Amino acid sequence: MKIKTFASSSKANCYQISDSETTIIIEAGLSLKKLFKLPDFDISKISGVLISHSHTDHNKFINDFLKLGITCYMTFETAESLKLDSTFVQIIKSKKSFKIGSFTIKAFETQHDCAGSVGFWIKSELENKRLVFATDTFYIKYKFQKINYYMIECNYDAEILEKNIELGIIDGCRAKRLKSSHFSLQNVIEFFKAQDLSVCEKIQLLHLSNENADAENFKNRIIEITGLPVEVY
Ligand SMILES: [Zn+2]
Ligand SMILES: [Zn+2]
Repeated sequence: MKIKTFASSSKANCYQISDSETTIIIEAGLSLKKLFKLPDFDISKISGVLISHSHTDHNKFINDFLKLGITCYMTFETAESLKLDSTFVQIIKSKKSFKIGSFTIKAFETQHDCAGSVGFWIKSELENKRLVFATDTFYIKYKFQKINYYMIECNYDAEILEKNIELGIIDGCRAKRLKSSHFSLQNVIEFFKAQDLSVCEKIQLLHLSNENADAENFKNRIIEITGLPVEVY
């Protein structure tokens, strides 16, 4: 499986997953105008778009894809919140698998501050490889098996956040919201400690906060815990 991270932050998210037969996009946070400029993006190859939840950094440009007749997959709650009027919206349910080309996909619930938010378990039947994608969640309650690639949010470091609250950089209200909606480095470490990483080849840390994260430290801490190659976005 090939992974391309086109954008990953609270401003915009857009990821591309492909095997030799099928290419999908996760999150429509970038416009097609922007995507067309990227050498690794070819609209004619896109078989579907997965949307994790209703916050705009994950779906602002979904109509760009719907207008071209590309099926966009999301939960009922997400579709309802986005008020989309298109026959190319496909409703999915967590824990119920569906297929896009050579991919089998299963959504699973995430812990965020909006209804119907999900992460995705994706298997390439062609290559027999599995990927887990989860962002905008303060916790993941699942243990996954035989995952080759993890794409996991690592939004903030609890220690940096505390310092920023003391310094008045982050107000208490926002900090409270962060803690119950986004993944801290400390919880990501616990998550990876609980996973079977025996076939894992690569980890991507996603959706880092501008003020409350230290990318280099995040990378080193997760390498320390997992012994695997780690990329940070
Ligand atoms: Zn987000
Ligand atoms: Zn969100």
